[in-house]
Amino acid sequence: MSKIVVVGGGAAGLELVTRLGRSFGRRDTHEIILVEPSTHHYWKPRLHEIAAGTFDTELDAVSYLQHARCNDYQYVQAAMSSLDRTTKTLQLRNENGAESSLDYDYLVIAVGAVSNDFKTPGVSEHCLFLDSSLQAQLAWEQINPLLRAEGKHHLSIVGAGATGVELAAELAKVSAKLQCYRHGSELAITLIEASDRVLPAGPECMSEKVQKALEKQGITVRTNTRVQRAEAGKLVTAEGEIIVADLQMWAAGIKCAEWLTQLDGLETNRLNQLKVDANLQSTLDDAIFVLGDSAECPQPDGSFVPPLAQAANQAAGHLARQFKRLLKGKALKPFIYNDGGMVIAVGHDYAVGSLMNNKLILRGRFVRNLYDTIFRLHQQILFGWGRVTALVLLKRIKCALNPYYKGNIS
Ligand SMILES: Cc1cc2nc3c(=O)[nH]c(=O)nc-3n(C[C@H](O)[C@H](O)[C@H](O)COP(=O)(O)OP(=O)(O)OC[C@H]3O[C@@H](n4cnc5c(N)ncnc54)[C@H](O)[C@@H]3O)c2cc1C
Repeated sequence: MSKIVVVGGGAAGLELVTRLGRSFGRRDTHEIILVEPSTHHYWKPRLHEIAAGTFDTELDAVSYLQHARCNDYQYVQAAMSSLDRTTKTLQLRNENGAESSLDYDYLVIAVGAVSNDFKTPGVSEHCLFLDSSLQAQLAWEQINPLLRAEGKHHLSIVGAGATGVELAAELAKVSAKLQCYRHGSELAITLIEASDRVLPAGPECMSEKVQKALEKQGITVRTNTRVQRAEAGKLVTAEGEIIVADLQMWAAGIKCAEWLTQLDGLETNRLNQLKVDANLQSTLDDAIFVLGDSAECPQPDGSFVPPLAQAANQAAGHLARQFKRLLKGKALKPFIYNDGGMVIAVGHDYAVGSLMNNKLILRGRFVRNLYDTIFRLHQQILFGWGRVTALVLLKRIKCALNPYYKGNIS
């Protein structure tokens, strides 16, 4: 019997333990353990909905404890802090600060990434981030009073990638909806981007359509604007312009946590991602796999797998299949990322999508449904179609009976 320890229960890690638990845990052939500090899983691409008060925690958050029990893996609530490769042991720290150790035969690291402030002065002190459900909840606690207050209030969002765009659009939609209940309050949103277009990592024609949709919602989009410093209530640009706001959010770029660079000599890149080969195995240790945002995984064309939810999900499915081969003594197959396109939600009922290698750009409510389907596919792997269908129906009923936004009537 082998012991497979997966660290991080996000988009990649949770799908992996679900598949491994069902394949091996159920028959007690191998021991599957998930190490994760949080009590609940929230699908990261929806964190902006927590910050905007539109996420349904009751229906769409997953309890690790319950999920582990139903899918035959063990859940250890702790954070990994260090590694000893010689003894194949992890050091863990729980929420009370107590240390413990855990041994493994195979280790999978899937601890994701966080925002990159590019060492811009003042950002960590004066901006809010959306890197975890806790941070998203803290953001909502500060945004909610602004949405309810009389008069015009200002919010700046730095970074017009998927996170910044989706957050700006969701908040604009909530603010517009709230004005139906409470006249005289307004949230003015400014989206700031250093490059010359929104969604700089996406196709150009998509950027144009998304920018138009954002501006139609009343969002001010500032491209070619590099923030040089953040201060209390203001951002200072490279040209010395001051952008004043009641709240400032930072959603630009990603990097991995610093502790990944201290893992018993494992190789990392300048973003602190762990370097792996095409099989997702660490370049220095075959017993250690890395996947999702925390991996730098090379592709046959010389590029690297992008830090996206769809890449994390594909890698998890691939690695689950490879473990079956590995444990039978067969050779591993390389992970080839298949780019399924990009869908960006611009508010609750509109999305823009680029499919078929950017040859097809679609937009509208239908594309918004496609965006929701991506989340439902993730849930399908965690629960199966029966429960996902029930969740979709319940959500529709709740939406019909309840107001749009959870803080809107009190
Ligand atoms: C607001 C937002 C919107 C996004 N929108 C999109 C989108 O529209 N499309 C898209 O493709 N991608 C999007 N992304 C990116 C996508 O969410 C990530 O690429 C994806 O979640 C990466 O999966 P992962 O499993 O590598 O990491 P994560 O999903 O981040 O999971 C990492 C897990 O590791 C845990 N962890 C962290 N440190 C430790 C530790 N020391 N020990 C144990 N566990 C630890 C965390 O608690 C977390 O559960 C978005 C990201 C954000 C933040």
